[in-house]
Amino acid sequence: MGFKRMKLGAAEIIALHDGALRRPLGDEFVRNAPLEQVKAMLASQNLPTDYVDIPFTAFLVVLGGKKFLLDTGFADNGPPTTGQLRANLAAAGYKPEDIDHVVLSHFHGDHINGLRAKDSTLVYPNAKVHVPKPEHAFWMDDAKMDAAPPAMKGAFQAVRRVLGGLPAGQLVPFEPGADLVPGLSSSAAFGHTPGMSIFTVKSEGQSFVYVADVTNIPSLFARSPDWAVQFDMDAEMARQTRRRVFDMLVKDKTMAGGFHFPFPAFGSLEAAGNGYQFKPVA
Ligand SMILES: [Zn+2]
Repeated sequence: MGFKRMKLGAAEIIALHDGALRRPLGDEFVRNAPLEQVKAMLASQNLPTDYVDIPFTAFLVVLGGKKFLLDTGFADNGPPTTGQLRANLAAAGYKPEDIDHVVLSHFHGDHINGLRAKDSTLVYPNAKVHVPKPEHAFWMDDAKMDAAPPAMKGAFQAVRRVLGGLPAGQLVPFEPGADLVPGLSSSAAFGHTPGMSIFTVKSEGQSFVYVADVTNIPSLFARSPDWAVQFDMDAEMARQTRRRVFDMLVKDKTMAGGFHFPFPAFGSLEAAGNGYQFKPVA
């Protein structure tokens, strides 16, 4: 099953799996640790050591009768093992037209590409699209695109493909830290990308935090939070953000969801050794 519901006071959170990608584990994946150490960390958790599976899970928040989709997955733009979110949304009882708001944490392709199908139609035609202001400013800056290394230019172009040409009024930039609506607030979590934001849902005294890519797979980067995944754009800032956010989640015992957490992708974080242990919900 590719979706899982959780009650949060009067709200509902639904994890929607979009699939996963298996990548051979090489030197480049963890930038600042020797491969043998990385393999030892995986082996200590009885995980395979010659590859890593990176899952993709977005979250639907039903709050005050409105439906908010936090990040989008790939739709039909990604590898063949992805693009399952739409089927899982249907299995959970919703149509793409039902989505009132899409809320983007940051502009990496696995988070935004699912907003527009390959044929360029909008997958959620009725949704306003909420974007963190500093994230939008960075990726839409032509000078930054021109100055980017060739390997990064595609990421800038993908942002333009997805968000360029959105009808006026449909794109809603927010300042990280702002409330999007009562009960759904954003916070700055910069480092992985220049403007990444995370989101807190509150209802009847209960809280849920969607941490997006504060960590990539927790079996490595929660357990060893000072390690930098190759996708962290500012590794040191990402490291500080990871420790700050996870310390808060541990202290407040808050339910958390992560885009690259193992499905159902939500659970709690506990202090463990020099880092944290992700405990998925049963
Ligand atoms: Zn990601």
